[in-house]
Amino acid sequence: MSQAKGHRVVIAGGGAGGLELACRLGRRFGPNCVTLIDSSLFRIWKRSLHEVAAGTLDIHRDGLPYAMLARQCQFAFVPGEVTAVNRKTRTIVLEFITLAHGEEFALPRRMRYDSLVLVVGSRSNFFATLGAAEHAKTPDSTASAECFRVRLSRALNAMNAARQAGVARQLDIEIVDGGPTGVELAAELCEAREYIASYGMTALDSKRDVRIWLIEEAQRILTALPEHLSKMANDRLLKCGIEVMTNVRVASVGAGCPEDSGGKRYPADICVWAARIEAPSWLVKTGRSTNRLNRLVVDAFLRTDDRRIFALGDRALATRAAKSKPVPAGAQAAHQQASYLARELARRIRDRLGPMVPFEYRDRSALISVGGPRESAV
Ligand SMILES: Cc1cc2nc3c(=O)[nH]c(=O)nc-3n(C[C@H](O)[C@H](O)[C@H](O)COP(=O)(O)OP(=O)(O)OC[C@H]3O[C@@H](n4cnc5c(N)ncnc54)[C@H](O)[C@@H]3O)c2cc1C
Repeated sequence: MSQAKGHRVVIAGGGAGGLELACRLGRRFGPNCVTLIDSSLFRIWKRSLHEVAAGTLDIHRDGLPYAMLARQCQFAFVPGEVTAVNRKTRTIVLEFITLAHGEEFALPRRMRYDSLVLVVGSRSNFFATLGAAEHAKTPDSTASAECFRVRLSRALNAMNAARQAGVARQLDIEIVDGGPTGVELAAELCEAREYIASYGMTALDSKRDVRIWLIEEAQRILTALPEHLSKMANDRLLKCGIEVMTNVRVASVGAGCPEDSGGKRYPADICVWAARIEAPSWLVKTGRSTNRLNRLVVDAFLRTDDRRIFALGDRALATRAAKSKPVPAGAQAAHQQASYLARELARRIRDRLGPMVPFEYRDRSALISVGGPRESAV
């Protein structure tokens, strides 16, 4: 293990970017130098959350405990919710976290850093749509994806009982936004419909009784992808029996029921909000520069306006040097930024402060899953 010269790197957020960074640095410099903080005790890959929501992935079986990862990769893991950063004293404030059964875990505390990396990710953006935060489900964290799964499972059981009693009912699930998250969730729910009989809900005919709708404001789904790929995905969803509605702008969400700008209602038993991202607002209060989605503006070296504080992943707004366009939010960017920062921070830790090499993003294309293994890649 390399000499760390007493430099302490604190990484806030153990998702796609933060965990990779902690592992890379931990293996080289050990737990006295590298600390990872997360508000969850288990790591679930975020891009699998639509599988958790659909019930095709079990968080208790597939989640990896951070404590185990810390031992294997030689970093220190501290559970807690980061709520503030004090740049003068170089400390962060941690609050307790609440576990699934309601117990509070990990005492509030402060922690000092020499270098701080903020990788706390993003959440769904309601774009101030009336009623959306209140009535729509958002599969953007393990807890909310699990909450959706339980709600779905309860609704299916109630419907099964109604069918057994001779009452015909259908379950309508409306997914707002035809971006990657909405498309993947629709496809996963479609696949999950096939398992209903194996859960003992034998009175239900999954295709007839569970209807899935995907609502998109633009003319086509997956607008970030070329048109022919968007069409392929659209055809695949239609083939699975998903109703795709484009050119529909959801203006409000009532009790589970979205309404468009013309006042038309789309009755739904469950409404899912899968639209784009924004970063949580607590860091804005500490005076760092952010854009209107609360993403931290970083320079070519992923530094915020405080030279000891870095940001990467969904939380950071970095610009691509060559194209002067923002680096897109996504697992690919988080991974590339984590590998870059691991190299640059290693030099800081060893006290070898020479000129830094700027970060350069390489677009290695996108992968969106639209169902079963044989027909999944777009
Ligand atoms: C359903 C879904 C499907 C997706 N599919 C794809 C895909 O196919 N391809 C793709 O490239 N991207 C996909 N994404 C986006 C991708 O997952 C993110 O871009 C990526 O995870 C961002 O990495 P990150 O490290 O910035 O944040 P995250 O991976 O979100 O990690 C943030 C971590 O910070 C922790 N945290 C948050 N707040 C605090 C706090 N205050 N204190 C302590 N810890 C905190 C969280 O618990 C989490 O572990 C998907 C996202 C979702 C929701």
